Parts: sequence; structure tokens; C-alpha cells
Amino acid sequence: MDLSSITSLRAARSRDDLALSPGEALLAGGSWMFSEPQPATSGLVDLTTMGWEPWRIGPAGLSVAATCTIAGLLDPPAPPDWTAAPLFRQCAEAFLMSFKIWNTATVGGNLCLALPAGAMISLATALDASCVVWTPDGGERREPVSSFVRGAGRTSLAVGEVLRSIEIPTGALQGRTAFRKIALTPLGRSSAVVIGRIDPDERFTLAITAATTRPQVFCFDRPPTDDEVQDVLRTIEDWYADAHGAPQWRAAVTHQLAHEVCEELTP
Ligand SMILES: Cc1cc2nc3c(=O)[nH]c(=O)nc-3n(C[C@H](O)[C@H](O)[C@H](O)COP(=O)(O)OP(=O)(O)OC[C@H]3O[C@@H](n4cnc5c(N)ncnc54)[C@H](O)[C@@H]3O)c2cc1C
Repeated sequence: MDLSSITSLRAARSRDDLALSPGEALLAGGSWMFSEPQPATSGLVDLTTMGWEPWRIGPAGLSVAATCTIAGLLDPPAPPDWTAAPLFRQCAEAFLMSFKIWNTATVGGNLCLALPAGAMISLATALDASCVVWTPDGGERREPVSSFVRGAGRTSLAVGEVLRSIEIPTGALQGRTAFRKIALTPLGRSSAVVIGRIDPDERFTLAITAATTRPQVFCFDRPPTDDEVQDVLRTIEDWYADAHGAPQWRAAVTHQLAHEVCEELTP
């Protein structure tokens, strides 16, 4: 939609360009920004002109620029021992959106918007990813994605901070994963996403998103029993309520999906 309140657009080319003036907001893919009126915003600063390399593989793992599109992450050219690679496409397909949005929406925009159904939040939390955040004083800070997302529409970003990238560690990429999603309609927005990951050393991670207001991640030293999984799920207090599912239903289906994920990874 046209944003009638916008009177300026700046293309950011350097870090200094990311200092926002009053009324300015960062623009990434624009798939949310242009989807509803933005009365508080009078200017946009385009992040996509920063020229950040979409992703880079290094000894520590995979670094994904905030401006990498969802399409750009569908099939990263993963080394053969990155057994978690299929999870990238599974999470992208959990988006309520067409392939056209895949080519526009960015990983960073998805994290910063912090919708409970944020599919890149599901991917990042299941793979122990950390955010690299540029701070306005010229420094940077790092934080797990699971704590960066604080609640529905809330992140830890302070005024003037910019999400630069996410870092996914090699160890997590070498895990085996199982993915389950449920929605009220076949192509609907996710009501619950449950991802399990078992690492080569048998450590087990269970990540719950979409069903709760913020990501819930549980780690076990070894594959948990069904009772242990059900016990940790009972500690969750922030089951999400919206048009895509009542909290009690979300809790019930999450318990079932977690059972299935564990069964798939540790038959
Ligand atoms: C039809 C449709 C379906 C959708 N379905 C889903 C869905 O199923 N799941 C879901 O999670 N979302 C969904 N969305 C919401 C949204 O489009 C996506 O979350 C998308 O990934 C946002 O990315 P973007 O690059 O387009 O962000 P933009 O729209 O450009 O920006 C989103 C917000 O993030 C801020 N921002 C962006 N990048 C940064 C950064 N690097 N640092 C700091 N702030 C930043 C912007 O200032 C803005 O406030 C949908 C939107 C539409 C229109």
C-alpha cells in the first residue's frame, strides 16, 4: 500500500547512514512496512543498499546477513555434514506467504518484527543462533535469538540499534532435526511450530515457537523421555492467543507435536 506519511527515503551505504533522524525507520524487504499504515513514520532508510553479503560459511558456522531474503536461505550450499540443512526450507515453507514475498522479506525483518509465527525465529532458535546487533555508539553486542525476541512484537533492540546478522554455530548445523507445524488451514499462519534437534554428542534441543508469545527452548544432555518432555512443556505459561488458535488448543497440539518430534529423532 502507499504510505502517505512518508516524505523521504534514504539509501544506506555506510554504518553512519544508519543513524536515524526523528520520524525515520529502517526499511528492509518492506513486506510488513508497506502492508499497513505507518502514521508515526515520516522517512525510511533502506538497509538493503548496504551491500551485505547474504551469507558466509566460516569455521564457526553460518553467518546470515539481516538483509538476506527468505529465498536466499532456502538451499544454502551446505557442507555434507550439515545434516540440519533441510530445516531451512521447512521453516521458509511455514511462512504464510507466496513465493513473491519469499524474494522480498528478509531474515532480519522477520526477527525484528517478532511475530510469534516468525518462521526465521523458529529456524534460528532451533539452531542456537545468536544475533549480532550494531549499537549506536559504533560497537556491537551479541545475544541468543531466543532472548532477543521478548514477546509478540517485542525484541531487545534499543533505540538506534540495528540487527546486522545472525550466527548459526557449526555444531547445531551438524545435528539431525525434526520439524512439525500445525495451522488452522492448510496454508494458514502457523499456530504451533515444534522443532527437535539431536547433536552428534546426543545433546537434545526442543524449540517451541508460534504457540507461545516468545520462543521457548529446552535443552537436555541426552534424548529426553516422553515424561521429561511433557514436564518441561507444562512449565510454559505464555501460550499465545489470537485468531490462529486458543491457548489451551495450542498447548494441547504442542504436547502432541513434541511427542512426535522426539519419536522421530529417537525411535
Ligand atoms: C501476506 C503476508 C504474509 C506474512 N506472513 C508472515 C508469516 O507467516 N510469518 C511471519 O513471521 N511474518 C509474516 N509476515 C510479516 C512480514 O512480512 C515478515 O515477517 C517479513 O519477514 C518481514 O521482513 P521485511 O524484510 O519485509 O521487513 P520490513 O517490512 O522491511 O520491516 C519490518 C520491521 O523490522 C524492522 N527492521 C527490519 N530489518 C531490521 C534490522 N536489520 N534491524 C532493525 N530493525 C529492522 C523495520 O524497521 C520494521 O519495523 C507476512 C506479511 C505479509 C504481507
